[in-house]
Amino acid sequence: MDIAIINTWLLTMEGKGVGIIRNGGIGIEGDKIIHVGKMEGFNYKSADILINGENKMVVMPGLINSHFHSMLTLCRGMVHDLPEIEYMPKGLSLFADVLKGQDFLLGTKLAVLEGLRAGTTTFAEYGIGLASLLNNVYKPFNVRVVATEMITELDFSEEKKTDDLYTFYRFLGNNAFKRANKLFKQFQNDELITCMYGPNALDMVSLDLIKEIKEEAVKRNSKIHMHVAQGGRERLQIEKRYGSSMTTVKLLKEHDLLDSTLIAAHIHDTTREERAVMVRNGVKMVGCPSSISKIDGIIPPLADFIELGGIAAIGTDEAPGTGHHDLFIEMRMASLLSKVAKRDPTVLPPWTSLNLGTLGGARVLDLENKIGSLRPSKQADLILLKLNVPHLTPIIHEPFCNLAANLVYSGKGNEVDTVIINGKIILLNGKFQEIEEEKIINQANKRAQELFPEVSELWRKSGSRMVKYHEQGYI
Ligand SMILES: [Zn+2]
Repeated sequence: MDIAIINTWLLTMEGKGVGIIRNGGIGIEGDKIIHVGKMEGFNYKSADILINGENKMVVMPGLINSHFHSMLTLCRGMVHDLPEIEYMPKGLSLFADVLKGQDFLLGTKLAVLEGLRAGTTTFAEYGIGLASLLNNVYKPFNVRVVATEMITELDFSEEKKTDDLYTFYRFLGNNAFKRANKLFKQFQNDELITCMYGPNALDMVSLDLIKEIKEEAVKRNSKIHMHVAQGGRERLQIEKRYGSSMTTVKLLKEHDLLDSTLIAAHIHDTTREERAVMVRNGVKMVGCPSSISKIDGIIPPLADFIELGGIAAIGTDEAPGTGHHDLFIEMRMASLLSKVAKRDPTVLPPWTSLNLGTLGGARVLDLENKIGSLRPSKQADLILLKLNVPHLTPIIHEPFCNLAANLVYSGKGNEVDTVIINGKIILLNGKFQEIEEEKIINQANKRAQELFPEVSELWRKSGSRMVKYHEQGYI
């Protein structure tokens, strides 16, 4: 045995609830879990590395960020509290436009670093030019990733008024599709990398191309991860292009795209009936509660989708929107916002929240056989959290166990002490083993301070609400 973790609480995510075991142990050999259970009878003495939790720690599956755009992380905090209509043209795009290739890589490093620190071991990365991110960040960091190359037929450099019908350029879509296919070939045998197809959204990719992409996805036994019914802008485009009675879900259904090949991000602009059709057809959902409440003032319909029997997961989306890549915050936000949306405190309890961040994510990303719970034969992706911190105290086990509730409602992510991915220790006792954390943070600060003064004039001219906050002395 390579690693044994002993005398610890286990939150296995196996069975109906969260699968709690008190005074348990875990054995890891190579990249796999070989033992999960009570300490009695656990023969750990031969282990090369011994981690003793002294019953002040909990081991749980590594968290899964199921919708993640990392490349703009250098723009964190640059755009907030704006009307949705100003968010892109008068906000994010001004800052994003000055970033160069290395800045995207630095953003990804920062985002993955942040995620790892807060216990995320799998990132469903969605972006443009992913080969570079995989080679320069994910592989050197030894992190599990579901890589989705974004495919769009829009030329983002064109000035767009929201009521104009977007022009599709097929060659742009084809180029991105080619890049995606290349990614599959390039990383097909990588233990930590799986690939998916990412037609961005139905207002940005033609139905013809999506159908071609789907054919390829089915052939490769892969999935399509798409932004679906994200909001008003998409609805307007769909109505203009396909007729005023059309909706994203209706179109997808009519064109045989609404099935278990589809992972649908967001789905805010859907009716309950449409969500029910999606669930019946095997579509899976990802919600991003922090990002969407902050950008749009909307609560993702996670509770509804789950109530209808659907399989769902959560993600942090992009840093300028969400403000963070911490799934502990996201699990709490999913729960609290859903309670508010339904005006019912029994909605989305802690065991469901924890599922969204672990096994639910694995099921949505089609990795259920590998990760998402602690079970012998699964890959060893797991995290250890300190329980002897004020905000998680006390932990009781009689008359019931309050561990899951404390993790979701009180957890901050900074209790994460050790992170293991595919049997390799990435973070031990709060210290990264190989990743140069301080260097990345310093580089990110330095680069942002170099870059963003360039934007000052354009930003002031935009006259956005943030400019007014600045003039009034708030920011
Ligand atoms: Zn997204």
